[in-house]
Amino acid sequence: MGGENMERKKLLLLNPIEYEHNFDKRALKTLEGTPGLEKLVKKAHKHGIERKIRLSYTGSNIKVTPNNFPDIYDIFEEACANIFLRDLPELYMQWDYNVNAFAVGSQKPIIILNSGAVDLLSNDELLYLIGHEAGHVKSGHMLYHDMATVLPFLGDILGSVTLGIGSLVSSGVELALLYWRRMSELTADRAGLLACQDKNVAFSTLMKMGGVPQTYFDKMKPDDFVKQAEDFKDFNFSSMDKIGKTILISMSTHPWTVLRTSELIKWLSTGQYDEIIEKHGKDSLEELEITCPKCSRKLSGEETFCGVCGSKVWKR
Ligand SMILES: [Zn+2]
Ligand SMILES: [Zn+2]
Repeated sequence: MGGENMERKKLLLLNPIEYEHNFDKRALKTLEGTPGLEKLVKKAHKHGIERKIRLSYTGSNIKVTPNNFPDIYDIFEEACANIFLRDLPELYMQWDYNVNAFAVGSQKPIIILNSGAVDLLSNDELLYLIGHEAGHVKSGHMLYHDMATVLPFLGDILGSVTLGIGSLVSSGVELALLYWRRMSELTADRAGLLACQDKNVAFSTLMKMGGVPQTYFDKMKPDDFVKQAEDFKDFNFSSMDKIGKTILISMSTHPWTVLRTSELIKWLSTGQYDEIIEKHGKDSLEELEITCPKCSRKLSGEETFCGVCGSKVWKR
């Protein structure tokens, strides 16, 4: 185990803005322009929401270390290294047989793997799944993810204290937050693919998440699944109306695996994935040509900001 695959590359200096999904970016913009969000975030801070969420996981679940689960920890380290996430989150496991994982905490992020994912996924598929979660952390999704997690439980409490009862719903914060969370999956799926670097692994993971029974694992038909996903190629999340969005976000037990696969297929067909692997998959930093991830201007590798568009860049 551990799966040291010589073909997989560590994507040095990979910047999330190079692969973040447009629907994610657009939904985030909407969310950040929604009245009431700032108040809600401040309130959550004041109540120490992050610490309390963290406590509920770290106090209940098994921490994965290089010592107790070295094979799983190896995969975790590789996933983070491949997408260039340098500050490793903590990793935990919880007893749940859904093939899934999630991340919480914006200051000190933690990733929680379901035991079902560990038992039912191959090592490469775990790399995809953990890469997906690491991608949430890398893109800075955690603050609003935490908010979306607690909102259903605390919405009334936080809302009535800060904004007046019912105003959370009427101000649209809840819808904007939960809708963005769904869209953030599309970015995280790309991170998962960049971590495992094999589209078939990404597809088979999503198939297992989508409901393939274990007795069929060796008879899975990825081609059929891809065909099913391709039928959704014209589906446009952003054109959905309010009711459509509400249904999309409230069916939370269904992780939209077919639609997400369809989005991955679309992304692969743009060639962006191959470009990123080509650009960042070098053996050392010296070999890397540094360009601005936003405007593509060539940089020396010493800048902190791009001189043309002003966006933040990694130093060599
Ligand atoms: Zn996710
Ligand atoms: Zn630039």
